[in-house]
Amino acid sequence: MAPDIYLDANATSPVLPAAIAAAVEAMETQFGNPSSSHATGLRAKRILDTTRARARRVLGAGPGRVLFTSGATEGIQTAVLSALVAVRERRAAGEACGDLLVYGATEHKAVSESLAHWNRLLGTGLTLQPLPVDAAGRHRLDVLRELAPRAAMVCTMAANNETGAISDLDGIARVLRECAPKAYWMVDCVQALGKLPLDLANTRIDYAPFSGHKLHAPKGIGILYVRDGAPYTPLMIGGGQEGGQRSGTENMAGIAALGAVLAALEEGTTFRGHGELAALRDRLAAALREAFPAIVFNAPFEHTLPTTLNFSVPGVSGKDLLDLFDAAGVRVSAGSACSAAKAAPSYVLDAMGLPPVRSGNAVRLSIGPLADAAFVAAACARIRRCGEALRAPFLADGNPGVMQVSADGRHGWIVFDAQRCVAIDAPPEQRGRIAALARDAGLNLLDADAADDGTVALDDGSHAPCMKIGGAVLARLPDGYLLGAADAGRLPRTAVRHVFGAIVAARLARVAHDGAVRCHRADVDGLPCATLAARKHDGDAAGQLQPDALEAFLRRHEDALLVDVREAFEAAAGPMALHGRAARNVPLSRLAEHVAAWLSEPARPVVFVCRGGNRSAKAALCLRRAGHTQAWTVAGGLALA
Ligand code: PLP
Repeated sequence: MAPDIYLDANATSPVLPAAIAAAVEAMETQFGNPSSSHATGLRAKRILDTTRARARRVLGAGPGRVLFTSGATEGIQTAVLSALVAVRERRAAGEACGDLLVYGATEHKAVSESLAHWNRLLGTGLTLQPLPVDAAGRHRLDVLRELAPRAAMVCTMAANNETGAISDLDGIARVLRECAPKAYWMVDCVQALGKLPLDLANTRIDYAPFSGHKLHAPKGIGILYVRDGAPYTPLMIGGGQEGGQRSGTENMAGIAALGAVLAALEEGTTFRGHGELAALRDRLAAALREAFPAIVFNAPFEHTLPTTLNFSVPGVSGKDLLDLFDAAGVRVSAGSACSAAKAAPSYVLDAMGLPPVRSGNAVRLSIGPLADAAFVAAACARIRRCGEALRAPFLADGNPGVMQVSADGRHGWIVFDAQRCVAIDAPPEQRGRIAALARDAGLNLLDADAADDGTVALDDGSHAPCMKIGGAVLARLPDGYLLGAADAGRLPRTAVRHVFGAIVAARLARVAHDGAVRCHRADVDGLPCATLAARKHDGDAAGQLQPDALEAFLRRHEDALLVDVREAFEAAAGPMALHGRAARNVPLSRLAEHVAAWLSEPARPVVFVCRGGNRSAKAALCLRRAGHTQAWTVAGGLALA
């Protein structure tokens, strides 16, 4: 498999080799506790002091505090706690401090959640007030001007993690100077380090949290800058480390590694500057436009970090795009990494006023300042391959083919051969896609109710209008359809392969046999299809192969079928081979077409694999319930196998 192309730098970044070396040294030879007074401790303290001095210079911290934290989330807590404790004290002394906690509507959840948490815990009783942004994701300064006189604290990020939108910090500072001179101001600088100029002591910013892992340091180390004179309350109390401002023995491996990253920033040749990164971004954008001609970028480039691209492709779901990229070995994310598991619309894009269909299907692609021309060229080649895979004809082979088309948990089906494509119960949202699939494959799209190839006799004595398709017939009943091989005008129950619709059980038993596959209109127990004879709770928990057991299993079972249940475009973008065996691609949406063939060889193991293990688990369960005791799913999917 070709190496991964990691384009998710806003989520986290690989650790700089110099940082790894520094961390290893801090663990191996310089392992002392910086609070110890002996030489081993003093050597560790030197790392601490050197890194802090570097951080001061890189951030332009002047006389402000520079503390090491576990990351930005801790820095944010500390800043919010410090500001709210100060507000409480000032109010107790009779000072009016405002009644609002104003935060940018596109802030990371760590900010809004911390404000709500500490406001509740400290009983400060302030009102959380989101500050709207414009279509480019920049704060509405006109609204800030209205809110600022009532603000006790204002939180605005330097650059947004989902869109890369760069805030107008000078503009915000001007408004605060004029309208809220006493409000505390926190600027989440996580996405700014190494990408935007920082000169914190010469700004009005009171608190600025950073996270090392966003710029090639390890996870678990961060910095909090606190302006000289801004109130401070420690979040953690104990042994008095960090001058009593943040107790707990220091994360010396993290601090040493961060020191190496800061040294690289100071020295200035390791990381690429704005102009070079913008040129790389433009090449990526051009490759994306070529791959997905309908693409829309969700934030204007002139106001975003050159390292972040956020886009949607009308007509292609965000999930399909993620699956496609992942299959090609290109790691990108949906919205922000924290919400990537849910296919929920992005609150950041919602706040920018994007329609839900764009916001809910957005993809974020982000590079780090280590990216170079060769890396971006390789990324562009893969992106183009993704475009080609998406355009590859879907409806190949299948005699007849049976494919599920779903929207919001409702399933329709298409039945097709080399000439025709028939849609059954298609959800309205999917009609455009079905038309496009048929057009791309050169098929004549027909409605299932237009059956006009005569009638077939069924085993219950009735006759049903039918349509010929791929050597079979699709018979129309009042409450559903039967697909099977007719002979001399008869469709005996034993020849029925598939059943669609809500045909009542009693009638079904007379016109179809137990092995026929029922193609559901909605998931039943999470499964797309089942045989009529499927036993409900049989083998539910069984059939999991751990990834480390797969190789031995395949060696033991030479005849095992390895089935890739990812969609066809995923398989086209990155064909699957495991332990020297090529997998056959049968997308989960085409499972119904193959169930009968697999059931006909009950002793032959069928091993299903997909990207993360969800789709393959459904396929294995579907087959097990149908009575195949040798159906397996590879836990964790391709990612772990
Ligand atoms: N703020 C922003 C803008 C971020 O992107 C992140 C991480 O995604 C955080 C805060 C939280 O950082 P961490 O999880 O490293 O504490």
